[in-house]
Amino acid sequence: HLGNETIKAELGRASWKLFHTILARYPEKPTAEEREALSSYIYLFSRVYPCGECASHFQKLLKKFPPQTSSRIAASQWGCHVHNQVNSRLGKKIFDCGTIAEKYQCGCVDDGDVGAT
Ligand code: FAD
Repeated sequence: HLGNETIKAELGRASWKLFHTILARYPEKPTAEEREALSSYIYLFSRVYPCGECASHFQKLLKKFPPQTSSRIAASQWGCHVHNQVNSRLGKKIFDCGTIAEKYQCGCVDDGDVGAT
């Protein structure tokens, strides 16, 4: 039967926001444990994401483009790349991955955000 595209899109925007913000605040020099935690988070996210069609496409994308966890830049650029893969499949515009550090701030006190309060 038909899903609800408005609700699916809203969930997608909220999910991508959290996803990119996590990657943009990931350590610049992660420990082995931090790398394992991020990798697990991403694979578990792809299993529990509550739109079955989205989750199964995302799992295929992870097979093709495994999560990059070696540094903040590697992880956040990887995230931008996989979101662009989804954008392209859905006929959306390709996003400029050079802008993600400014765009995805957490408002945290301890991380040198520009403009964080
Ligand atoms: P979104 O794609 O939600 O992006 C939100 C905002 O993020 C954009 O406005 C832009 O400012 C920014 N942005 C865009 N591209 C990037 C990027 N590459 N890197 C960083 N920031 C960016 N919907 C389906 O219909 N079918 C699917 O199979 C499907 N699979 C999905 C899989 C996952 C894992 C997720 C999280 C969502 C999926 N969605 C899917 C939802 C879909 O990706 C969009 O979230 C939804 O269509 C709303 O799109 P939007 O145009 O508002 O922008």
